[in-house]
Amino acid sequence: MIKGANADESVAVVGAGIIGLSIAWHLTKRGFQVVLYDPEMPGSGCSSGNAGAISPGSVTPLAMPGLLAKVPGMLLNPRSALHIPLSYWISAFPWIVRFAAAARPQRVAAIADALAGLYGDAISQHMQLLSEVGAADIVRKSGQLHLYRNERQLRGSRGDWKLRAAHGARFEKLDRAGIEALEPQVGPAYRIGIFLPDAAMSVNPHRQAAAIAEALAANGVSFRRERAKSFVTEGARICGVTTHAGTHRHGHVVLAAGAWSAGLLRPLGYDVPLEAQRGYHLDFADSAISLSRPIVPADRKVFITSMETGLRVAGTVEIAGLDAPGNEARAKLLIDDLKAVLPSAQVEQPKPFWMGRRPCLPDSLPVIGRPRRWGGLICAFGHGHLGLTASAATGSIVGRLVAGEEIRLDLDPFSIERF
Ligand SMILES: Cc1cc2nc3c(=O)[nH]c(=O)nc-3n(C[C@H](O)[C@H](O)[C@H](O)COP(=O)(O)OP(=O)(O)OC[C@H]3O[C@@H](n4cnc5c(N)ncnc54)[C@H](O)[C@@H]3O)c2cc1C
Repeated sequence: MIKGANADESVAVVGAGIIGLSIAWHLTKRGFQVVLYDPEMPGSGCSSGNAGAISPGSVTPLAMPGLLAKVPGMLLNPRSALHIPLSYWISAFPWIVRFAAAARPQRVAAIADALAGLYGDAISQHMQLLSEVGAADIVRKSGQLHLYRNERQLRGSRGDWKLRAAHGARFEKLDRAGIEALEPQVGPAYRIGIFLPDAAMSVNPHRQAAAIAEALAANGVSFRRERAKSFVTEGARICGVTTHAGTHRHGHVVLAAGAWSAGLLRPLGYDVPLEAQRGYHLDFADSAISLSRPIVPADRKVFITSMETGLRVAGTVEIAGLDAPGNEARAKLLIDDLKAVLPSAQVEQPKPFWMGRRPCLPDSLPVIGRPRRWGGLICAFGHGHLGLTASAATGSIVGRLVAGEEIRLDLDPFSIERF
């Protein structure tokens, strides 16, 4: 890669998940000297085990009026997709209150507008980035198939589909024969499908992150296996990071530490309501199922994807903080979900369960941009359930911000000052 006018400026990127890696790529392309800080292997956090769906049409926030009404029932059902352990209810309460506030119709419309702007060209951004790093085979335009048992169930999602349509999403309603034509192994209980042609999938999110990391290393980016403990400040400017290994000075600092980002901002006076929504996946190497695209059974709230590593069922929302250990019993509920949708799946030998922490803000919008009170710092975290989808676009936005180039997206809705 040719080093350009920015070669003397160093940028620290804190966090080497798919967001930090994509940012690092866009900065490296622009000639910046990039150092990535992460105590773990690049791409080994939430980014390693997601469902691989690249869903530009998913502009509906999580907090929709219809969902809120269902929350109490879900919390009381130990097998539901939403779980908050009793010991965490008090800690979760302030976040839930903000989440409910985000479900007001006017707010929902504004959030959807902002997400549509962020996700709009997600597929082409992924394809471009991956072809630049020599891994274009990882993402393919697959479409996405949502499944319903009956019209009543579909009516429950009417608001969601209306909002998507208002933001230009194309989709087609299918009957049972239409479902079978696309995915013949889907069980007979599902009678109605909604097919979205403009969606893509990663055949291996972990390899996707690793491919970007490898290309970064080949282009001279340093990876420091160090945890950032705090930022170095000078007046109202951030000019580096302090890790357990010492103090490192940089011209710019990008915070992309996923669900862990809020702790680093507290000493700067920002109390960001970032909550880890823990999700699980189970992989089956020999499931006897082959899907051509991610499928999403509406009643189960999971994504099922044929990855290059096997069949993956991923989902559930567990709000239990950052540090609680993974809960295998929660992960195993995914087997019931899988069998309900794909009754012929062989599920006897799952690989060990995986848990990841989705970095979630109550309004489903990430924080992207420069805090007003501190120079030298750029935030890029809180991508929630769609961080893979938004990663390449976020990388491009942050690359442009640091380089002082024009940004075509209004970043106000993503500002940290909204909290
Ligand atoms: C079950 C499940 C399914 C999902 N499915 C999809 C999907 O189909 N499509 C989609 O778009 N998204 C999906 N997601 C969401 C997506 O995976 C996340 O939004 C995304 O991975 C977040 O990326 P990130 O880089 O912000 O966080 P992470 O990947 O978690 O990376 C953050 C990194 O920061 C590091 N870090 C933490 N603290 C520090 C520190 N102090 N100093 C330095 N480094 C630090 C961590 O070690 C970690 O490597 C799913 C998530 C889950 C859990």
